[in-house]
Amino acid sequence: MPDDKTRRIVVLGSTGSVGRQTLEVVRAMPERFRVVGLSGHSKWELLASQVEEFGPDVVAMTDPDRVDRLATCLNGCAVRMLAGPEGLSRLAGWETADVIVSAVSGGAGLPAAVAALRGDKVLALANKESVVMCGGLLNGLVRRNGGAILPVDSEHSALFQMLQAVSPESVRKVWLTASGGPFFGRSPADLESVTPQQALSHPNWQMGRRISVDSATMMNKALEVVEARWLFGLSARQIGVLIHPQSLVHAVVELVDGSSLAHMGVPDMRIPIHYALSYPERTAGCVGGLDLAQAGRLEFYEPDPEQFPALELGFRVAQAGGTSGAVLNAADETAVAAFLAGRIRFTQIVPLVRDVLDRHQLREAPSVEAAMAADRWARQEAEQCLESL
Ligand code: NDP
Ligand code: MG
Repeated sequence: MPDDKTRRIVVLGSTGSVGRQTLEVVRAMPERFRVVGLSGHSKWELLASQVEEFGPDVVAMTDPDRVDRLATCLNGCAVRMLAGPEGLSRLAGWETADVIVSAVSGGAGLPAAVAALRGDKVLALANKESVVMCGGLLNGLVRRNGGAILPVDSEHSALFQMLQAVSPESVRKVWLTASGGPFFGRSPADLESVTPQQALSHPNWQMGRRISVDSATMMNKALEVVEARWLFGLSARQIGVLIHPQSLVHAVVELVDGSSLAHMGVPDMRIPIHYALSYPERTAGCVGGLDLAQAGRLEFYEPDPEQFPALELGFRVAQAGGTSGAVLNAADETAVAAFLAGRIRFTQIVPLVRDVLDRHQLREAPSVEAAMAADRWARQEAEQCLESL
């Protein structure tokens, strides 16, 4: 970190939900944060307006077909332009940056996460897919190069904050909370006719399309179980999931002496984003506090495995490790895209992912190349399953 108080930030995926909220945090605290790099994939007009507002040194457009349009729009702007996935990785290791926020969606975030950690950066990580795919390798990069991974995912940010207060031996179990999504309490038969529009309407959070559908199936929580396993060095048995429809308690740490710590806050991603950008300091933020007297009842339920069969896959992958994380992520990404395109029903997403996972031959401790190969294999298998339906 630089001596002066201003942190230099790169936002990968600045045109998405987490990316835009990161820029809101920066906008609210211009004396603390300066944007040196931005990236977008398809939304070139939004990216151009962000460049005009924040004046970064460098911008990356990852979809090569949109590069020319962005360049035309930015004609005359003193900003360096990068293109394609290689451009994203270059941006992730950008020399003058202190913190790289990875807010891209999907497996495309993995090479960028690797580039950031090879470059000894602080990686503020929303892109859980990269940890799910290659958590062991990313941890190895942190150990060797001295960078850091700071979780932005709200449950993991909560755990990260609480685990600093206790020794690893004193932790019995951690609990991730899940809202239950828009269909909590509905019978499996009732879910047969769910439309993409209904699955995209999350009760508590405004998010991108894939994570919204993943929240409805609870595959998001399955990925988060794997994410917690790698980020905090826990075994699958030390991780639990609780449904908490109010989304005010983000995680709980159960200690060996019978105490439990809980982390609370209004459901607003700007809180964990601000924490990751400011760490280890805590500074006044742009989000109001939680009014517990107004919050009403807080409910907690054990998830029903029949209603949420995705969860079991997360625990299976957290235990198996190796290339299974890459397969889980890629098969789900393919299945969700097929659901959103009207090719399969909502209730077919998880069985399709399970079929692909069942057929996978696991490889231990994958390199990035092995994880990417497993990712490609899983997409092809998922596509074959889709064609045979
Ligand atoms: P969005 O879909 O809203 O945004 C995704 C971002 O990634 C956009 O900037 C998009 O560009 C870019 N992008 C899409 N495809 C590619 C690609 N192939 N290569 C490079 N960039 C790409 O997603 P969210 O912001 O909701 O989620 C981002 C990440 O954060 C995910 O990993 C998600 O799981 C995680 N997360 C999100 C939370 C939320 O509240 N939204 C909460 C916790 C975690 P463009 O829009 O220009 O096409
Ligand atoms: Mg989360």
